[in-house]
Amino acid sequence: MSLESELDRARELDTTELADAIESIGFECTRCGACCKAAETETGEDEEHTATVFPDEIRDLQEGGEYDHRDVARPMPYGLTDGPEGPEGETFEWALQTDGCGDCTFYAEDDDGTGACTVHDDRPLICRTYPFSVAVEGSSQPMGEAVDRVGQVRAHECEGLGRDIDREDAEELAAALKRRAVRELEEAIGVRENYEPADPEPGEVVVHDSEGAKRHDGEPVDQ
Ligand code: SF4
Repeated sequence: MSLESELDRARELDTTELADAIESIGFECTRCGACCKAAETETGEDEEHTATVFPDEIRDLQEGGEYDHRDVARPMPYGLTDGPEGPEGETFEWALQTDGCGDCTFYAEDDDGTGACTVHDDRPLICRTYPFSVAVEGSSQPMGEAVDRVGQVRAHECEGLGRDIDREDAEELAAALKRRAVRELEEAIGVRENYEPADPEPGEVVVHDSEGAKRHDGEPVDQ
């Protein structure tokens, strides 16, 4: 199916139905931080937190001037190779920046281990909607296998699933879920329309997003 027809499907998603599904699955965030931290692999190694953040979301996070582009986002690692001075090559889209432990750079824990997002009001759609996704092709999946599905809504591994949720919170989540599906498909269409092979120099990274080809620091390649 084309991205355009998937986008039409996403725009037609019924948020009341999505909210019903979320209510029946149930969810309350336990603040465990699992979705913000590096994931432990089967071999016991830490896998760097990797969550997509869109160009306009990066700008929202930069508003106020506290962060520059590199503080907020890193090139999506898929497709890049390890060069002598770090990653090099071409990739698509950005991931939230991580700290030395591989956790999201915006994640903080207080002394008793309770986690918090330090940019909660501006957090990207992928974070707003965790642990849910919608079954629309071309919209991305968060980390973790889908463990439950009701109607169009999929739920991914999370210890907060199955807990009672207020109708108001379910509706808010449903609206964000629809916004995310639409936004992801618009982004994918934008990437396809603006893509031109960039042929990066050794040691260079080029990131293709819906606004064109950019350097590691988010500046357009041709500037
Ligand atoms: S931006 Fe906030 S909610 Fe999203 S992964 Fe980072 S700490 Fe977690």
